[in-house]
Amino acid sequence: MEKKNIFALIQEMETQMGHMHSELGGLKLVIKELLEENHRLSFENEQLRKILKREADPAEATHPIAPNHPQPNKAEEHGEDVVGEGYDNLARLYHEGFHICNVYYGHLRTEGDCLFCLSFLNK
Ligand SMILES: [Zn+2]
Repeated sequence: MEKKNIFALIQEMETQMGHMHSELGGLKLVIKELLEENHRLSFENEQLRKILKREADPAEATHPIAPNHPQPNKAEEHGEDVVGEGYDNLARLYHEGFHICNVYYGHLRTEGDCLFCLSFLNK
């Protein structure tokens, strides 16, 4: 094989590798988007199931609070529950690999811990 041919061949391979590299990058992006969408849908599904359960079984929604319990306290208690549950959901989301910070919310964390998220969790 002539030296000239070898260089031409190497040049060609280099070009092909460049193409493959950019294709690989594109595929990575697609996978990332699919994972994010999958998570959004799972989360939405879970929320809808909760609503469905609440509507199907009204007794579930009525917590064991005495009937003569004052109305305002009941509302306050419920509010605290919602806040605590919201925090747990966010912490879980973060540990599942998603951003919960307002900078990248809902996106997959591809580079380990996020300082924005951590500062939010430690509040
Ligand atoms: Zn983040």
